[in-house]
Amino acid sequence: MPERLPQHKHCLNCGRAVSASKDFCSDDCEEDRIGMLRRKRRQLLILYVGSIIVLLMAVIFSTVRF
Ligand SMILES: [Zn+2]
Repeated sequence: MPERLPQHKHCLNCGRAVSASKDFCSDDCEEDRIGMLRRKRRQLLILYVGSIIVLLMAVIFSTVRF
């Protein structure tokens, strides 16, 4: 039988139990998470822009006759 815990959430970064009013167990974890999301967003943006460029190149090369 699991022990009954008071209302709580888990740190969004490391998963440790934190009180229900908080999202992170510490400021370090919050900064870690923000930095990670920012890097992820940047990677997504690069991927997105890269695929648009590839698509444009494909369209240009398939329509333009040299
Ligand atoms: Zn944490």
